[in-house]
Amino acid sequence: MDRTSDCGSEGCRFDSYWAHMDLSTPIEKIPQIRVIYQKRLKKLGIKTVSDLLFHFPHRYEDFSNLIKVSDVKLNENCSLQGKILEIKNSRTWKKKIILTEVILGDETGAIKVVWFNQPYLIKVLKPGDFISLAGKVVLGEKGLYFSNPAYEKINLKPELTHTGRIVPVYPETEGLSSRWLRYILKPILIKLRKKIPEILPEEITPRFLPIQTAIWQIHFPDSLHLAKAAKKRFSFEELFLIELLVLKERMKINKEKAVSIPLNLKMVKDFVKKLSFTLTNSQKKSAWQILKDLQKSRPMNRLLEGDVGSGKTVVAVIAALNVIKGSGQVAFMAPTEILAKQHFQEVSKLLKDFHFNIGLLTGKEDKMIQLSPYRERAGLKNEVLEISRRKILEKVFKGEIDLLIGTHALIQDKVKFKNLALVILDEQHRFGVEQRARLCQGSGGQAKLIPHLLSMTATPIPRTLALTIYGDLDLSLITELPKGRKKIKTSVISPSQREKAYHFIKKEVKKGRQIFVICPRIEPQENSEILSWAEAKAVKIEYGKLSKDIFPDLKVEMLHGKMTAKEKENVMKKFKEKKIDILVSTSVVEVGIDVPNATLMMIEGAERFGLSQLHQFRGRVGRSKYQSFCFLFTESPTKKTNLRLKALLDSEDGFQLAEKDLEIRGPGDLMGVRQWGIPDLAMAALKDIFLVEKARKAAKEILEKDPELKKNLLLRERLKEFQTGIHLE
Ligand code: ADP
Ligand code: MG
Repeated sequence: MDRTSDCGSEGCRFDSYWAHMDLSTPIEKIPQIRVIYQKRLKKLGIKTVSDLLFHFPHRYEDFSNLIKVSDVKLNENCSLQGKILEIKNSRTWKKKIILTEVILGDETGAIKVVWFNQPYLIKVLKPGDFISLAGKVVLGEKGLYFSNPAYEKINLKPELTHTGRIVPVYPETEGLSSRWLRYILKPILIKLRKKIPEILPEEITPRFLPIQTAIWQIHFPDSLHLAKAAKKRFSFEELFLIELLVLKERMKINKEKAVSIPLNLKMVKDFVKKLSFTLTNSQKKSAWQILKDLQKSRPMNRLLEGDVGSGKTVVAVIAALNVIKGSGQVAFMAPTEILAKQHFQEVSKLLKDFHFNIGLLTGKEDKMIQLSPYRERAGLKNEVLEISRRKILEKVFKGEIDLLIGTHALIQDKVKFKNLALVILDEQHRFGVEQRARLCQGSGGQAKLIPHLLSMTATPIPRTLALTIYGDLDLSLITELPKGRKKIKTSVISPSQREKAYHFIKKEVKKGRQIFVICPRIEPQENSEILSWAEAKAVKIEYGKLSKDIFPDLKVEMLHGKMTAKEKENVMKKFKEKKIDILVSTSVVEVGIDVPNATLMMIEGAERFGLSQLHQFRGRVGRSKYQSFCFLFTESPTKKTNLRLKALLDSEDGFQLAEKDLEIRGPGDLMGVRQWGIPDLAMAALKDIFLVEKARKAAKEILEKDPELKKNLLLRERLKEFQTGIHLE
C-alpha cells in the first residue's frame, strides 16, 4: 500500500536527522524548512512536526491516469512519463512572457510541453532526463500540448509525489504551495509516521482506518476511496473528542448539588390563570419540564428553544416565580442593554401581583423596582427607584433583591448573591459550573450549591449541533406560536421595485404602523467616497437618505451599537411609544425586541445575513393582530443568494431554515459556530448526522467504562490539549 522502505532521494539526504526527531520536534529543526518557510508555517499555527503532519489537504487532484503520448486527450487530467528530447527558453512575441518549451518523447511519440515564466526550469531539466508530468492537454495552433503541468524527475527515484498518482492539494496560503508541502511532508511521513500513537480506544479502532494508515492515506492516498476513509477517521476523531468534552461536562454537573425548589403548583396555576393569554401546549410542557428539574437536588442544565415570538419569557418567569416563592434568588441575563431593560419592564409587569424586589444592573445604569400588589390594587403605579450600583450589590448580597436582571455586568466579580438558585440566560447558551459557582460565593453555608441554569434561545439548533456542541444541555422545545398570529408576508425586492416598496411603507405608516429598516453596517466602508453597488448599506447613510429625501414628513430615527446606552434606550423607548415611525438600525434589534405595533421589517443587503438571522429579524414583526410584512432587499442577486432567500419565502419554520443554512452555507455560517474554535473536519462533519451519532455513542460507551479515561491515557492527554482550543459558549 505505502512504501516506507523507499523514502526517495529527498528523504535519504537527511537520514541522519531522523533518528533525533519525533512528533514534538519544532519545525526549525527540519533542515529542508528554511526560515522564511518557518514563518509562513507558523502563521498557520504549525509549530511542530505533529502540527505539520496534521495539516491536511482539502482536496485532491487525480493524476493517477498514466497514459502514453499517443493516447492523450484534450482537457482530461492525466499523467505521462517520458524523456526530454529538447528544451529551450523563448519569449512571446510581445516579449513579456518567458516560455520554457520541452519536447517529451516516449515509445509512442512526442508531445510539446510549455511552462510560463519559470525560466529556471532550463537549469533543472536537461535533455535526456526522464520526467513525469501531470496536468491537462490543451489545443494550440500547432496541435496538442501540455500547459504548465506539474512535473518531477524520475531518473533516480521511481517514487512519484506530484504526478502519476492522486495528489493532495492543501488550502491555499501565500508562499506555501501544495508542491512544497508535499515535498516536505512525504519524507517526514515516511520516517515518523510509525511514531504516531493511536489515541482512539481499541473498542473503536476496528471501525476506522488505524491512525498510521489514515495519516498516510489522507496525504498520499492510493485511491479516492481510501482518502475518504482517512478523512472520515479524522472527522470522527474530532467529533468524538467534542462528545467526550460535553459528556464529561454533563457528568461534572450531575455530581454537583443544587437547592431543590419545591413545586408550588397552586400558585403557578393561579399565575397562569391570570395571564392575559392562554399558554400554548408547548409552553406548558416546557414550564413543566423546568419545574420538575428545579425540584431535583442536582443543578438543572436546560436549554429552552423556541422560535422568535413563541413566548419563552413567560415560561422563564414561571420558573423564576416558583424559585422566588421557594425563597431563592434569580439572576436573569440578557445579551444587550436594550433587552435587559425590556425584560426588566416586561417581567415587572408579569409579576406585578407579588411582593418582589426586582433589580436592573447593566453596568451603565442600575435600577430597582419594588413591586407591591397593594399599590397595584390602589391603582398606583409601582415605582422605579434609581439606586446606586453599590446599593444594588448590597441588596443582592443580603438577599433583599429577589430577581436581578442585567447584562454581562451580572457576572462581574463584585456581584454576589445570598442564595442564588436559578440563572436564566437569554440568547447566551452556556454558563459553566465554575461561573455559576462564582456567583454564589459569599453566600456563606451555601457556597457548595450550584444554581440551576435555564438558557433560552430563538436560534434553532439543528440536530447534529444539539448532539455535539449542546450535548451537555437538556432540551425543551416550544414548537408552536401563540394562536391567532398572522403569517408574515415575505418578499424579495429587486432594485427596480424600491420606489414601490417605499410607497407601501408610507401607506403602512399612515395606517398607524411602524417600520424597521435593517442595514448590514453602521457607517460606509472607509475610503469609499462614492458608494458602489457592491457596498453594504450603512445605517447612517440610509438614515440620512430616508429622513431627508424619501420620508421628510415622517419621524425617522436610527439605532446602532456605537450609540451610548442612554441614547439607545431613548430611541427604543420612543419607538415603543410610537413616537418614531421608521427605525433604521443594525442588527442590534436582532433578538428579543418586542414592539407589537411594528408591522414591516425591511432588510437591506439581505444576502449578507444567514437565513437564521434573517428569520430572527422577521420575527420582530408579526407580533400583533395586524398583517405584517418582511421585505428583503438584495443588490447582488446571485443564484445562490436567490436560492437562500427563496427558502425564507417558503418556510416560517426556524428549524427548517437552520437546516437549510447548514446545507447551503455550511456550519461555519450558523450563528455563533465560528467562535467556538471547532476544528475544520469536525465542523464539516457537523452535516453528517450518522457520524455525529456514532461519535456520541462511542463517547458514551467509553465514559461509562472508564469515566476518568485512566485506561486511555493517550486519549486523556489528547482531550486536554483539544479542550484548550475549543470554547463552547
Ligand atoms: P420570545 O420567545 O421571542 O422571547 P416573548 O416571550 O417575547 O417571545 O413573547 C412574545 C410576545 O408574545 C409577548 O408580547 C408575550 O406577552 C406574548 N405571548 C407569550 N405567550 C403567549 C401566548 N401563549 N399567547 C399569546 N401571546 C403570548
Ligand atoms: Mg425573548
